[in-house]
Amino acid sequence: MKYVCELCGKVYDDTVGDIAHGIPAGTDFLSLTAYECPDCGSGKEAFVQAASGASAAQSTSDHDSQR
Ligand SMILES: [Zn+2]
Repeated sequence: MKYVCELCGKVYDDTVGDIAHGIPAGTDFLSLTAYECPDCGSGKEAFVQAASGASAAQSTSDHDSQR
């Protein structure tokens, strides 16, 4: 699952974690007791769940109108 910082657009991907900040890969964002956005310093509450695969599906249907 991916979470996006609403303030700066930084993405936290729990399959990758945040090694630079001591969060190992595979750490569920919701299981973190505290997280600070590495880019803007916002707390966990600034992050929202990212929609998965939505952008990929959209670019495919966009192509359809050309034919
Ligand atoms: Zn941020």
